[in-house]
Amino acid sequence: MFDLIVKGGTLPDGTTADIGITGGKITAIEARLDAEAGEVIDASGDLVAPPFVDPHFHMDATLSYGKPRLNASGTLLEGISLWGELRDIATVDEMVERALTYCDWAASMGTLAIRSHVDTTPDHLNTVTAMLEVKEKVKDYIDLQLVAFPQDGLYRTKTGRENVIRALDMGVEVVGGIPHFERTMADGAESMRDLCEIAAERGLMVDIHCDETDDPMSRHIEALAYETQRLGLEGRVAGSHLTSMHSMDNYYVSKLLPLIAEAGISAIPNPLINIMLQGRHDTFPKRRGLTRVKEMQAMGIPVGWGQDCVLDPWYSLGTGDMLDVAFMGLHVAQMSHPDEMARCFTMVTEVNAQIMGLQDYGLRVGNDASLVVLDASTPTEAVRLRPARLAVVAKGKVIARSARGDARLMLPGRPETVRRRHEVG
Ligand SMILES: [Zn+2]
Repeated sequence: MFDLIVKGGTLPDGTTADIGITGGKITAIEARLDAEAGEVIDASGDLVAPPFVDPHFHMDATLSYGKPRLNASGTLLEGISLWGELRDIATVDEMVERALTYCDWAASMGTLAIRSHVDTTPDHLNTVTAMLEVKEKVKDYIDLQLVAFPQDGLYRTKTGRENVIRALDMGVEVVGGIPHFERTMADGAESMRDLCEIAAERGLMVDIHCDETDDPMSRHIEALAYETQRLGLEGRVAGSHLTSMHSMDNYYVSKLLPLIAEAGISAIPNPLINIMLQGRHDTFPKRRGLTRVKEMQAMGIPVGWGQDCVLDPWYSLGTGDMLDVAFMGLHVAQMSHPDEMARCFTMVTEVNAQIMGLQDYGLRVGNDASLVVLDASTPTEAVRLRPARLAVVAKGKVIARSARGDARLMLPGRPETVRRRHEVG
């Protein structure tokens, strides 16, 4: 007797299986389960995947687009200054409410684990108070991992460093930073040493907004790789954005990538935001500003797609759907080979789970019973269609359902319904 059986779905590897769920865990995955269940979801012909994971988000700022006014230039720097005003006027309750609304969106799209950077700049730390409250409120359906993020620089404000420590003491679990925003290159490098030492002392992970600039001389990832190895933090450190690598000299990159690989650092590009914000100072040709995704993957560096923003001072769109993120990433990184398209799906599921160090993730017996049923046949088709999430299961409970995206056609001699699926080959 199972609590729930998801029947006949196609797993990402192409096999068909029944998934039996008991007590919030996956307790059986077999070709056919002939057992009683409290509830059965018929997933025949549909893709059953582990939940989507977003390794880079800003939940304290989400759904605040237009407050206190719009970002007129569309640049990263105007976004930072707008947010600087908003974080001091937004109440804890308002931030909690916006974040919970966003979590509803994410849950409905099957995004069940999110790493969110929390701005630790203001001394009141209302952002941290609010996000810790959200983490507790959503814990039954979303694993929310918080990063102490000194948005205005670790050293550029008087209490920058102190507030990162205060946030970690309050229960924030990952160390963040923004070296390219410090006053000097030297300060940026020093912040990498300092933050990695803090993480090493406390046994924490590190996720740095690293070199989010078009300046090819922004090379803080080099210092991050050095400190990671020096302190034995391999496998616990991520470099987010790394957009300067887009513009770096190729010879230098040929030295840099092996250093990143040796240090066991993961990369988190955020294609929606990178393509929107980078290259703003260019005329034509205009740089794309996305880091070197395929080149890093060829070196064995884990690369996962992050979302970064939804309707906030930096980004005027966004849906909470990690397939939108994978879709944009696939295009900008030109990942058009069938293997690369399929990889884009794992970059918003398995790879991101690995980067976040999630335990009990994935469609295996003994893991959390969290999964998503998609109106698609394969991972690549899911990226192409970004289809309805027919059912979302979080830790054994069905938390969202959507109708299929079929259209009804009224064309003589043509089929009555259209689903836009297509068997390739
Ligand atoms: Zn970010």
